[in-house]
Amino acid sequence: MKIKIAKRVREMPPSGIRAFFDLVIGMDDVISLGVGEPDFDTPWHIRETGIYSLEQGFTSYTSNKGLRELRVAISEFLKSRHGLEYDPEEEILVTVGVSEALDLAVRAILERNDKFLVPQPSFVSYAPMVSLAGGDPVCIETLEKEGFRLTPEALRRSLHRSVRGVILNYPSNPTGASYRAKELEALASVIRGTDLIVLSDEIYGELTYDFEHIPLPTLPGMKERTVYLNGFSKAYAMTGWRIGYAAGPREVIAAMTKIHQYTIMCASTTGQVAACEALRRGESDVQEMKREYARRRRLVCERLNVMGLPCAKPDGAFYIFPSIASTGLDSKSFSQRLLEQKKVAVVPGTAFGRVGEGFIRISYASSYENLKEAMDRIEDFLRGLRGKSAAAARS
Ligand code: PMP
Repeated sequence: MKIKIAKRVREMPPSGIRAFFDLVIGMDDVISLGVGEPDFDTPWHIRETGIYSLEQGFTSYTSNKGLRELRVAISEFLKSRHGLEYDPEEEILVTVGVSEALDLAVRAILERNDKFLVPQPSFVSYAPMVSLAGGDPVCIETLEKEGFRLTPEALRRSLHRSVRGVILNYPSNPTGASYRAKELEALASVIRGTDLIVLSDEIYGELTYDFEHIPLPTLPGMKERTVYLNGFSKAYAMTGWRIGYAAGPREVIAAMTKIHQYTIMCASTTGQVAACEALRRGESDVQEMKREYARRRRLVCERLNVMGLPCAKPDGAFYIFPSIASTGLDSKSFSQRLLEQKKVAVVPGTAFGRVGEGFIRISYASSYENLKEAMDRIEDFLRGLRGKSAAAARS
């Protein structure tokens, strides 16, 4: 019997990151700067709280919306940190990471063939999620000279009648770019004149280095049309616990909860208990990890620029997106050769959209020593490449 897989899934390309990392498996001595997750363990007091909850027998489902205690803690955090008011009963949903929240949001909002704007380069899941929800992802290519930030002009140019919304992600995976108050306000002023819904993925918001992160719903007129997405994976180094949340207009949260209740029931109970501890007592851990990321950012940014792979200083997250155009190689060949010859794994920029051609993504969620060694290897790799092209020019 031939099993037939649904067309929309058959036609979906595999993630460019996964495809590349299949090559890494089985290689020794590889320094991987490819994965998008903290290299830190979850802080001990958070792990201990999870363990203790199991010892105490907290092993059953929670309410569909998530533990009330956690929703209240999220609501209090958003209020005290950002002055945002969300009702923990009707405007907050705890999900299996931001991944699930994104999926629920697009499924709750989109009708078949509705268009949803995805500024690129972007996190690999956005466009496939929109497609799986029956929608039509429309990519907006952002430019290197604009720091890969969405501009109000580019946004305005992309608006037509069947566009339902836009996904914003700042600080960005894969570029680390974020928006300052003035830039956000300029985007908001375009959005205010439309019926767009915004999914604002601010999972790296706590990891913003040089200025204050400003959540989109704090801007005038934005809260009523924004689904704010955040979680515990990055700031608290809790990727494996799978806890995220959405805060937004009650009708959207109710629709998302309906899907969540039939498909997921609830996020992991142990993870939710641990997330409460993270919000209550995890702030100093976040600051400590952030300081270390900032130190690594300085190292990597300086080294790459000096060796001739120009890159902007990332505003946040733990990614940097240097141009490899000067090598004459495309992103995939560059990454493949670097892996084969110097055993450093990075991600080709094209994994994040066509506009990523000519760039690679480096994650600096790796130890300072690893990063120093990786930078030496990349420099050596470039020397080899340039030596070869100089020899070819002479012959
Ligand atoms: N959004 C962005 C921009 C990400 O980089 C990631 C993880 N790489 C996620 C969402 C998903 O995070 P999680 O599901 O672990 O909360």
